[in-house]
Amino acid sequence: EHMMEIRRQNCNPMIMKVTYYKKPVFIHQGHMQWLWDVDGRRYLDLFAGVATVSVGHCHPKVTAAAEKQLRKLWHTTNIYVYSPLHEYVDKLAATLPEPLKVIYLTNSGSEANDLAMLMARLHTGNFDIITLRGSYHGGSPQTMGLTSNSAYKYPIAIGLGCHNTMCPDVFAGPWGGSHCRDSPIQTIRNCSCPQGLCMANDKYIGQLKEVFATSVPSRIAAFFGEPIMGVGGAVQYPKNFLKDTYKLVRERGGVCIADEVQTGFGRTGSHFWGFQGHDIMPDIVTMAKGIANGFPMGAVVTTHEIAASFGRGVHFNTFGGNPVACAIASSVLDTMKEDGTQQISHEMGTYLLMGLSKIRDKYEIIGDVRGKGLQIGVEMVKDKVSNREPLPPAAMSEIFEDTKDMGVLIGKGGVYGQTFRIKPPMCITKDDADFFLAVFNQALNNYME
Ligand code: PMP
Repeated sequence: EHMMEIRRQNCNPMIMKVTYYKKPVFIHQGHMQWLWDVDGRRYLDLFAGVATVSVGHCHPKVTAAAEKQLRKLWHTTNIYVYSPLHEYVDKLAATLPEPLKVIYLTNSGSEANDLAMLMARLHTGNFDIITLRGSYHGGSPQTMGLTSNSAYKYPIAIGLGCHNTMCPDVFAGPWGGSHCRDSPIQTIRNCSCPQGLCMANDKYIGQLKEVFATSVPSRIAAFFGEPIMGVGGAVQYPKNFLKDTYKLVRERGGVCIADEVQTGFGRTGSHFWGFQGHDIMPDIVTMAKGIANGFPMGAVVTTHEIAASFGRGVHFNTFGGNPVACAIASSVLDTMKEDGTQQISHEMGTYLLMGLSKIRDKYEIIGDVRGKGLQIGVEMVKDKVSNREPLPPAAMSEIFEDTKDMGVLIGKGGVYGQTFRIKPPMCITKDDADFFLAVFNQALNNYME
């Protein structure tokens, strides 16, 4: 009855503004890669609550672990010692290489990034932090400053701007940040190769050095970068881009932070952590989303050296390391091993990229298909031959809505909202992938007619 009433009003204004679909989708239930709405319509979920439901909605093993813990202990804070916390941090630490072994638990990605910023500043004694154009690192006042995409900022967030493609933006204060006039789509426009992002590495390194020489302060606290940009539209960097950036950052006394909120936990398929695909070793790794399959949780992992400058007793987080969250996260790691989640991400990602590339060749309005594992972006353009302007929001919406009406939920991203994002629970099958490819092809066909 309550749902009927909400539906009658279209959307309860007290909850939040629903902007994603023209008409809100009222989800009622989930199982693995499937969601059902209140009318019993089934959707293939290819967005996973923004790359968050890692092993599947209400995965039976994870649900059982949660239920068991709920009957034992809900909460104490980490003032006390309790086994779900200890078991979990041991398991999580085992997934990370030396020297990344000191773990702090939080409740979200923004909290994790806030904490990482604090650590970097305390450790280096410096203040400025640089991020990449198109990046999203959170919605808290501090992390909003790291987030370059102006769509997620409030007007008070101002900072230094920068024109160069793929170059870092300078973060100048808690409310500062990157105000970008340009975006990674430039990279695609300038490049003639089919994948769009293979511009000669020398050129990037040259640009990067120039930016560091001209607009980056001589001492910095940190560089934040995702191994593959998530909200920015599955943007991949040229080979060695992160490696070279890390070197330049360290020369200025900064620490390097890998934001693995989207790319962690096997999402990129070939590696458990996205940074492992770049031949780099971050000083701090932040994570959330997939960590607990949709239960609120986040973490910061760092070295003993950085943790020591952070100091004892500075960090307190009432819910961070909550027993139920830890039991769930622990079960997620076990389930990933048992279900071969990372392997599925690798195989299904490769299969989807192949299928989408074939579709790309058929349609003038697909500028690029990219990504790794189940972190995929399909960049839509007005016309791929001439100037590759982003496909306007109304057109994006039409294709998006049509895809939903045919039973598939996908995401949108990119600086201009021009990229469809595919990041499903990592339990999808080949049949699911085929179903999506057919639906997407049909939606494009319908749009072109
Ligand atoms: N970092 C990245 C890369 C993200 O994608 C997000 C969320 N989209 C965040 C941080 C913030 O995470 P949360 O929404 O859990 O605060």
